[in-house]
Formats: sequence, C-alpha cells, structure tokens
Amino acid sequence: MSLNVAKFGGTSVADYSAMSRCADIIINNPNTRVVVVSASSGVTNLLVELTQEQTTNERRSQLIKDIAHIQYLILDELGNPQEVAARLDAVLSRISTLSESLSGNRTKATMDDLLAQGEQCSSALFAAVLREKGEAASAFDVRQVMRTDSHFGRAEPQIETVAALTAEHLAPLLISQRIVTQGFIGADELGATTTLGRGGSDYSAALLAEALKATSVEIWTDVAGIYTTDPRLAPKASPIPEISFNEAAEMATFGAKVLHPATILPAVRQKIQVFVGSSWEPDRGGTWIRHQVEDVPVYRAVAVRRDQTLLNLHSLQMLHAQGFLAETFATLARHKISVDLITTSEVNVSLTLDKTGSDSAGNGLLSEPLLQELSQHCRVRVEDDLALVAIIGNRIATTPGVCRRVFEVLEPHNVRMICQGASPHNLCVLVAESEAAQVVKALHKNLFEA
Ligand code: ADP
Ligand code: ASP
Ligand code: MG
Repeated sequence: MSLNVAKFGGTSVADYSAMSRCADIIINNPNTRVVVVSASSGVTNLLVELTQEQTTNERRSQLIKDIAHIQYLILDELGNPQEVAARLDAVLSRISTLSESLSGNRTKATMDDLLAQGEQCSSALFAAVLREKGEAASAFDVRQVMRTDSHFGRAEPQIETVAALTAEHLAPLLISQRIVTQGFIGADELGATTTLGRGGSDYSAALLAEALKATSVEIWTDVAGIYTTDPRLAPKASPIPEISFNEAAEMATFGAKVLHPATILPAVRQKIQVFVGSSWEPDRGGTWIRHQVEDVPVYRAVAVRRDQTLLNLHSLQMLHAQGFLAETFATLARHKISVDLITTSEVNVSLTLDKTGSDSAGNGLLSEPLLQELSQHCRVRVEDDLALVAIIGNRIATTPGVCRRVFEVLEPHNVRMICQGASPHNLCVLVAESEAAQVVKALHKNLFEA
C-alpha cells in the first residue's frame, strides 16, 4: 500500500478549528498513516524568549501563561479529555522547571529540551482531535526514533539509525492506527532532547517518510503551494504547479521559508514526491515537487534570505601562495560554520554566513573565539544587515540575456556581492537588508509579471 506522511505547520495547528480542518484532510486520505506536527503558531517563539538570558522572572511567568492559554483553549474545545489534560499539565510543568533551571545553568541541552515542549503539546492535542472524529490515532514520541548527533540547536539526524529505529518502533504501530508525532525534535544517543533548527518540522516529515519508504510527503501550510516569490512580498506571485527537486532545494536554501532547506534531501534519496498545499483551502491544489517535471523555465522564482553577514578576509599571504583558503575553511569547519557564498580576489576573500536563525534558539554563528582564530592569519572585516536575493531557475548560467534582465532593475540599488555560475539553477545578489523587499518586488515584476 502507498504510504503518505502529512506535516502540518504552526498556523495549521494554531487552534481547535485549524486542527479540525487538518484532521479532515487526513481522514480523506486513507494512505496518510503518519502525521507530523509543528508547535501551535507562536508557541516556539514564546519558548525561544524563555531561553533568552535577558528574560526577567516576571516576563517568564507571563510567557508560560501565554503558552498555557494557547494550549488549554484547544483542550477546552475538545471537552477536556482526562489523559490529554494530564499530558498538558505535565508538559507545562516541565516548561516551568526547565526555564527556571536555565537561569542557573544555561546549557544548550536544556534550551533544546525547553524548545521541544511546543511539539509535545500540539501532538497530544492533535491526536485527540483525530480520536474525537472517530479515528484510531495516538501521539508517538518521535525521540524514540529520530536519533541525532548532540549538536544542540541544530542537530544532524543519523539517517541509518533513524531508519532502523523507525522500522522497529514506529512501523508496526501503523497497521492499526494513525500516528501523530512531533516535527523539529529528536534525541541523541544518550536520550537527551535535540532540535533540528527553526522550521525543522518539514525536514522531520521528509526523514520519517524516507525511513518508512513512503511514497509521498505532504507539507500542509498557510499558502496554496510554492509561489514564484513569497506572496506576502509580491501579491502578484503565482503558485507553481510542479517543480523539480533541484529547483525546490535551491528555493528552500535561498530563503523560501515555505520549505526547510534540508527537506528535499531525504525525498531525493528515496525519490519521494513532495506536495505543498494550504490546509485552509485543501481543494485549491498546490505544488508537486518531483524528480522530473515537464516545464523547465529559465526563471522559476525569486527568493530572499535575510540576516546575512559578510566576512571579508584580507591577507597579503594570499598573494601567489597556496593553502590560505584551506586554512580558512578548516577554521570555519571547526566552528561548525557552513559558508554560503564566496568570492575571491588576489588578496581578499569574501564569504557570506547566515547570521540568525542558525540554531533553534536564534543564536548567531559568529563567535568571539572564531573571529580571534581567523584574525591570527588575516584581517577580518564583518558587515551586517545584508540580505541575499536569489533568482532561481534553469540554464541560468548558459542563457544569454539573463544578466541584463536581472541587472536592469537593480540600477538604483547597491549590489554588495554577486554569485553566479557554480549552479545552473541560481544567480544571487547580496544587497542591504533595508532594500531587499524592493529588490524582490522589482525582480519579480520584471521576470514574472511582464
Ligand atoms: P509553516 O508554519 O506551515 O511551516 P511557514 O511560515 O514556515 O509555514 O512557511 C509558509 C510561509 O512561507 C508563507 O506564509 C509565505 O509567507 C512564506 N514563503 C516564502 N517564500 C515563499 C514562496 N516562494 N512560496 C510560498 N510561500 C513562501
Ligand atoms: N516549531 C518549530 C519552529 O517554529 C519547528 C517548525 O515549525 O517547523 O521553528
Ligand atoms: Mg515552516
């Protein structure tokens, strides 16, 4: 039988009526045996604030009340089933304990444990909504199967172990019921809770689909598919009915928040089709992400990734020398930093890094120890408040005229860095954060609204 994994994002499980709409989507598809949920909308942000050092005790109590309010409202509408009420009470009390313990001992492990509690609440509530509709369903603790390394805040799943644990603990349960489980979280070898980075529930769904050899993954969100750009930025953006794995991966990597950047990898490995649609309007259709698609246009979409940092490294040692880049990248690797874009000249190297959102608690990547280490072999200059705008498509590097069409609308803007040519699927420009929205709108108008 075909197996489908359906993932519902924060707004789709924001309250009782949203959950109820999503439950109907699940019930309509007998192949949907695994349901992955995010925390109810707003809850992870409240938890992130709880992890911050500057949060006062007074604010902490308010944040916990706000989380409780969101979750208990759903419980009330469900008629307060006893086992779910007990579960919520336990999670809320754990949130209190963990946030208190953070003020004495600020470890990333405790932060992850705290951040993971939102998905614990939403999965317990969502399973109860399915049961209320007469479905056999239970909540399953994904930490039993989502084995990761111990890189708290941005843990890496261990694919083979996840597959083995899933076959042992999760697959047998699917015969008699639908399983609702948590996105975004996992556990390391010692059982400590980890998180996969903000927006990681999409990735969790794809990983579970891969482990279960599912035939499809559905990402249900608040937009009817992947659009030619963020429809919040350009109201004339239009949905893309079908897009290739490569293009979708580039879009996600370059900031189209609708998909977590790593989501496509498991789908590619197992050739699993991914569908993105709106849980508010499931009948409007959406986007199918497939290995092969019929339409491969030069221009597919425009994406923007904010909060970029540019590192400019200058060293005369680079002149006619070897090994400078190797040394630089080794330093960055030791600090677990992945570089996005790179340009070089005779004695300078410029690199871009994602500044925020780099771990689940929103901590930046650039640390004092890293800067000190880099400064030992070059002069380092850091520029902030930048955004990366990417034109995504096909044959970009081999189609004459692409640069003219892109740069003619960029005339009023200062382009800080340009990257093109490594991939046939993108052309990227780095601009001031304050100009990013205008740049996206202008590019979208020129490439898609003509
Ligand atoms: P969820 O909580 O369901 O995971 P997200 O907020 O993470 O939802 O992602 C959905 C949002 O992604 C949309 O509301 C939209 O503003 C944004 N987005 C950015 N780029 C795109 C795009 N190209 N197509 C569709 N949505 C996009
Ligand atoms: N709840 C997590 C977040 O807000 C994970 C997710 O929604 O995908 O980032
Ligand atoms: Mg998301």
